[in-house]
Amino acid sequence: MPLSKTFVYISHPRYLEHDTGGGEHPESPERLEEINRRLQTLADPGRIVTQKPAPAARSWIMRIHSEDYLLRFEETALAGLGYFGHPDNQLGYDTYEIALLAAGAGLSGIDLAEQEPAAAIFCGVRPPGHHAEKAMALGFCFLNNIAIAARYWQEKYGRRRLAIIDFDAHHGNGIQAAFEESPEVFYLSIHEHPTFSFPGTGYAEEHGVGSGLGTTMNIPLLPGAGDREVARAFTRRVEPALADFRPEALIIGAGFDGHRLDDMSGLAYSSALYRFLGQRIAALAERHCEGRLITILEGGYHLPSLGESFSEYCSGLRQSS
Ligand SMILES: [Zn+2]
Repeated sequence: MPLSKTFVYISHPRYLEHDTGGGEHPESPERLEEINRRLQTLADPGRIVTQKPAPAARSWIMRIHSEDYLLRFEETALAGLGYFGHPDNQLGYDTYEIALLAAGAGLSGIDLAEQEPAAAIFCGVRPPGHHAEKAMALGFCFLNNIAIAARYWQEKYGRRRLAIIDFDAHHGNGIQAAFEESPEVFYLSIHEHPTFSFPGTGYAEEHGVGSGLGTTMNIPLLPGAGDREVARAFTRRVEPALADFRPEALIIGAGFDGHRLDDMSGLAYSSALYRFLGQRIAALAERHCEGRLITILEGGYHLPSLGESFSEYCSGLRQSS
């Protein structure tokens, strides 16, 4: 067996302090505790590095979110109101600061990917981000970690052509909204069909807007869809689209809530599917981007499945092609 690639896990203990009210809320600190436990069991432990990010500077956050929104977010957290905008978006006193740290993980990951493109880089963050829009918190998300990272990669390193693959069970409406008019950022999402699933966007007909027409690809799957449907979509749609687009860097939105045991969706993926995705994604990054690839955690709420799926995905990422 060849040695696995070096695995860099970027996370921060303060992510556990983002308070979603305790008890009933599915987006709980236990999610990251489960991932942290699984991290200890990955192969080649001598080649696993953990790294703490710095908070993202407001100037980077404001490439995606409005200043007024950031002020309202900070004030709401500090006022102890309990939630922001909608009761789904539970928050505590420290959530604003922790969200800046979560956005910072992607930026640290990108700095590292530029120095060490051969490493497999996973940002284990909370709160998640892909539903957050310019001026709206949604679906447990406050700052759009992936969209902020994409702008950073473009502006700091001049990697203008970026692809984002989002395999969370839900459509990343916030990422799509940020880049639907951009021909330089290709957003590809495989998710449960919006007729049946939150947030109700991500129809196949949504291809992008204006000069961004053609660089949004939504692949909605019917409830009950499993590994075979994802593998087919990946092979027949995602891989050819990226071969045409030729991205310079790749960002992955890794949500594990499509697992058959996760009741946040009606999808029926196995844990093994995530190993397949990890392998194919690493191969895409090597083929098109000289290995420049980072992964950022989104959803995944059934704890044992989340841990197992994370472990499978990371094993796939680390296998050299
Ligand atoms: Zn999700």
